Amino acid sequence: MARVFSGIQPSGELHLGNYLGAVRNWVRLQDQHECLFCVVDLHAITQPYEPATLGERTLEMATGLLAAGLDPAKCTVFVQSHVPEHSELNWLLTTVAPLGELERQTQYKDKAQRQESVPAGLLNYPILQAADVLLYKAELVPVGEDQLQHLELMREIARRWNHRFGAGYFPEPQALLTPTKRVLGLDGQAKMSKSLGNTIGLFEDADTIWEKLKPAATDPARVTRKDPGNPDICNIFTIHQGFSTPAQQADVAHKCRTAGWGCLDCKRLLADNIIAALAPMRERHARYRADPERVRAILRDGAARVRVIARKTITEVRARMGLLEAAED
Ligand code: ADP
Repeated sequence: MARVFSGIQPSGELHLGNYLGAVRNWVRLQDQHECLFCVVDLHAITQPYEPATLGERTLEMATGLLAAGLDPAKCTVFVQSHVPEHSELNWLLTTVAPLGELERQTQYKDKAQRQESVPAGLLNYPILQAADVLLYKAELVPVGEDQLQHLELMREIARRWNHRFGAGYFPEPQALLTPTKRVLGLDGQAKMSKSLGNTIGLFEDADTIWEKLKPAATDPARVTRKDPGNPDICNIFTIHQGFSTPAQQADVAHKCRTAGWGCLDCKRLLADNIIAALAPMRERHARYRADPERVRAILRDGAARVRVIARKTITEVRARMGLLEAAED
């Protein structure tokens, strides 16, 4: 059984983008593999944030993941900062991570552009990701398409470390993508992301979902009801691929290409399917929300479980890197 690791930032909102790109895959994978899923609060603090609400958002993200279907009996859910070995391995890996590659990462360049003063942590972000995955020697990393460049760098870091300190010690992790690996925001401009304010949240009510979907961008060439559209370049069709049956998808594509219906008809079917699929998650969300202590206990148990693996890796890595073992008390 391969080990799977993936993380998500405590951005405060699970949305259709990170759900279809990653989290729905996590829910499936927990039945097939040993899965570790992490709320990456240490990554979140590389961008401007509000300390007063970070803890709350971390708990909220964990609550959302459980509501989305992660089952603590089948997988491990924990908070990154609760396992200090992530930070330690991060430092040890900075000594082999190539600076030029770090500077070439698109996400780094995008995020750096939006900040007046760029913290070193932002550049270091993919090294911390490498530490997250390599700490557990995970082989599979289910992510959205935006993370592929970081995954490639992670493999490079593993290769360099192995070359220097231990051939074959760290496996080179492989990305696992979904068919909906890139969901655009409702504006149709950039990826759906909380920070861009172009999302549909996983736990939003039926009316809000419909109100947000109605004006959402579609194929820009389809100006009037009579123009045929191209589902291959329509973000609404991408979301249909996440929520509609294969027969519905075929019908939607046909009606779009032949101008057999309008974009609003297409969106109405999509809204109905989204609302039906999300209903059980909304219910679970309300239940977990009412019991934050239960969520905290799940996170505590999760961290305790993964720390056993993390400590073993760190001990081995320290030894292979030649660090003097501390004397016993
Ligand atoms: P966000 O981009 O909202 O801050 P994260 O960066 O924490 O979300 O990403 C969590 C996971 O969800 C990652 O694997 C990422 O690739 C995936 N993901 C996020 N947004 C999208 C999207 N719009 N389409 C597809 N996958 C996405």
